Amino acid sequence: MATQGFEERVRTTYFDALRRRQALHGEVLPVEVAREPVVVDGQIVKPFSHASGIHKPEQLDAALGITTTPPKVRTPPPYDDRFGDDGMFRYHYRTPHKATARARATAAADNEAVRVAYRRRLPLVYWFGVVPNLYRPFYPVYVFGDDPTAQEFSLDLTELGARHLDDLAADEVSRQYRAQIVQARMHQARFREAALRAYRSCCAICSLRRRELVEAAHIVGDADGGAPVVTNGLVLCKLHHAAFDRHILGIRPDLHVVVRHDILAEIDGPMLLHGLQGFHDQKLRIIPTRRTDRPGPDELERRWERFRSAG
Ligand SMILES: [Zn+2]
Repeated sequence: MATQGFEERVRTTYFDALRRRQALHGEVLPVEVAREPVVVDGQIVKPFSHASGIHKPEQLDAALGITTTPPKVRTPPPYDDRFGDDGMFRYHYRTPHKATARARATAAADNEAVRVAYRRRLPLVYWFGVVPNLYRPFYPVYVFGDDPTAQEFSLDLTELGARHLDDLAADEVSRQYRAQIVQARMHQARFREAALRAYRSCCAICSLRRRELVEAAHIVGDADGGAPVVTNGLVLCKLHHAAFDRHILGIRPDLHVVVRHDILAEIDGPMLLHGLQGFHDQKLRIIPTRRTDRPGPDELERRWERFRSAG
């Protein structure tokens, strides 16, 4: 049986590794990056498996990861995962995939591994499947409850840590807020990947194609009621995203770039000349092939009005 110290060291090491991997690859990780093992006390620990909903490395007693597979077109998700009235994420117990004693034993062992994490307050990673082969990890995640009647575990996905957990039960006000922030993060991850696909990971303005340097921008912002859907999105490189958000440039509803007049008059180095002024009155270089992925006319119009009133 693994000691408690080892269980905790694996977690600290793996969470640090995940932070470094996200700094390099972004918030959403490809399966092969998530799967890279960590070495703790000379032992190779395999931290992730997308084959199974609950993952416990062989050296551990407690589950280290819980995974929701990404939705496939026309295939409903395997479990009815959702948020409870307490704002906690509900994760259905693993059920045997076949009616054999072996399958039942495997499912029971997986569920028990989550209970060990619950009893010993060991944090784990919740892997949210964004699109096939891409996962957004939430960590540290604590198991907050175990409901054998509903056959569900409750997970706190706010990533706020164990100290926060002590206040949760009494914390009426933040219940709804808790579910909202987690759902917003999930929607944001799906929005980004949908936009990257539609724009082939290229900046719509300059066509730069580097996943690390491009972002999914909202046309109508969150705060103004803009939805995290691809028709309210654009992929922009970091420079053009910042310029778009600060109204240094705008996008006319006919999909042409307009650079603000005072910026056009400035004299500076090559970045201003080529990176900003050079795109004035140019059509977007990247527009999604599928008509249904293209920016919505209403969204463009609303944003264009904001740009004109800001300039
Ligand atoms: Zn760009």
